[in-house]
Amino acid sequence: MTLIEMLVFIALSLALLAVGRFLSGRWGTAGWLVGVLPVGIFWTYVAYGIIRGTFLEVKHSLSPRPVCRQGRCKTRDYVLVSASSEKALFRCRCGDLYLSKANRFSQILPHNSLKPYMARDSSSPEWKADEEALS
Ligand SMILES: [Zn+2]
Repeated sequence: MTLIEMLVFIALSLALLAVGRFLSGRWGTAGWLVGVLPVGIFWTYVAYGIIRGTFLEVKHSLSPRPVCRQGRCKTRDYVLVSASSEKALFRCRCGDLYLSKANRFSQILPHNSLKPYMARDSSSPEWKADEEALS
């Protein structure tokens, strides 16, 4: 969410609360709920999204990454570009993009195809060349 979107949502929330306040004069508590309920649900949803996003970033940031294909970047040199629950997109310092999914680490080539790079089994933290890349 950008700052401007945030400001718009805050303004909308305040407007809804003003409507709720106005309606409460006529309908009492029911009038308040018209304004307060959507605002409450919306901000709960926003908070959930922020917490979930932060959690995914932390989770993917903690998982180890192999040295990049150029041999220059280590785990900490990668920048997280985007993350979902099962995969994460990283960019290393050389500018190459990598997709981390399950226990595989693949390079994303300029024309958007995936090139298998490294894999590890869940029992060990060591990265090995992905079998698919060797075959
Ligand atoms: Zn690199």
